[in-house]
Amino acid sequence: MKITATCNGMKAPAVADAIMGAAQTLNRTPTPDEVYEIARQTDFGCKECLVVMDAEEEVYHGSDIPGPKYREHFARAKYHPAGWRGESEHTAEVALHSQP
Ligand SMILES: [Zn+2]
Repeated sequence: MKITATCNGMKAPAVADAIMGAAQTLNRTPTPDEVYEIARQTDFGCKECLVVMDAEEEVYHGSDIPGPKYREHFARAKYHPAGWRGESEHTAEVALHSQP
């Protein structure tokens, strides 16, 4: 699963912690919808830039549909279409069971 935002990227470690906490509480991997809510509550990104995607779906509630580059570069943890050289300034990775 991958969560991308253009603003408030410095909150990435906080979101990572919140997702780990949720996974422990739920005793499963949070769904993309749940992760979207966690990220919003942690102030990671905003409605217009937050994209949560896993292998099958994208969760996005802003006005522009996420471009195909998000899917193309899904496997690159640091990829961000708006970043310098396509890389995020802030990245945090969370190891969860079962899901990429
Ligand atoms: Zn934003």
